[in-house]
Amino acid sequence: MISIDLSDKAALVMGVANARSLGWAIAQQLLEAGCKVGFSYQGERLKPELEKLLAGHEHTWMAQADATSEDDLSALFARAKAEFGHLDYLVHSIGYAPREAMEGRFLDTTPADWNTALSVSAYTLVSIARHAEALLRPGGSIISLTYHASQQVVPKYNVMGVAKAALEAATRYLASEMGAAGVRVNCISAGPMRTIAARSIPGFGEMYDKAAKAAPLGRNATPAEVGKLALFLLSDLGSGITGEVVYVDAGAHIMTMKLD
Ligand code: NAP
Repeated sequence: MISIDLSDKAALVMGVANARSLGWAIAQQLLEAGCKVGFSYQGERLKPELEKLLAGHEHTWMAQADATSEDDLSALFARAKAEFGHLDYLVHSIGYAPREAMEGRFLDTTPADWNTALSVSAYTLVSIARHAEALLRPGGSIISLTYHASQQVVPKYNVMGVAKAALEAATRYLASEMGAAGVRVNCISAGPMRTIAARSIPGFGEMYDKAAKAAPLGRNATPAEVGKLALFLLSDLGSGITGEVVYVDAGAHIMTMKLD
């Protein structure tokens, strides 16, 4: 058993909507390792849920921030500076595309839906990295969450597949620039998990069942397994890894088909 002590570390986790959120699975691992964790949520609607989750957890705080708002990000990172003085880990667990863009044909994607999906799901990684830069200590690490529809066509994922491809490319560019300061940037590519964001993908239930059947492990990966990979990539255990997309999907992406 490897025990990880992160009690001298400080993290910011962005994108926890409820107990099913992948951001919460990651935060739980950080909190168990003793890390101090700040949280941001998009709108006041999510505040009570997050308050419930954080009840009893010491060394935590929360603040509202729409990740597409430069003003909100300036205020959020000023708060992080006031609370912790610095940051070690940054978790981007944010994604959104209008449902209409995933219901129709990819050919019919509107400029507005394209811009929304790419701005919220990919550009925000760049802007939060920029806002965090001055606070991140050497040894710091940033992760975000992607999905294999960036590499291969997943029906109905449409513009979100393009947004995830942009997120993965942005990860490599950020990693190349932030490495000199000793900061690593990686993506976790998670298999399908039952969260609020997943529910907005048309046909998600079928996709979930098919992915489990196709996976070498014969099941889907779990949010807790995403959390464990995140702990590895954020902490010193992953110290030699940057600019990567690391999969936690029970192996589903290596398969082209499975024979009965
Ligand atoms: P989730 O619980 O719904 O989390 C998504 C979060 O993104 C929500 O807290 C949402 O807030 C937040 N968000 C959306 N727009 C935002 C904005 N402008 N500013 C700040 N926050 C914003 O779903 P999840 O599945 O855990 O998603 C987390 C990440 O994992 C996403 O990048 C997703 O694409 C990725 N991922 C998910 C799966 C899966 O199958 N679930 C698989 C691979 C990758 P609101 O609720 O207020 O909109």
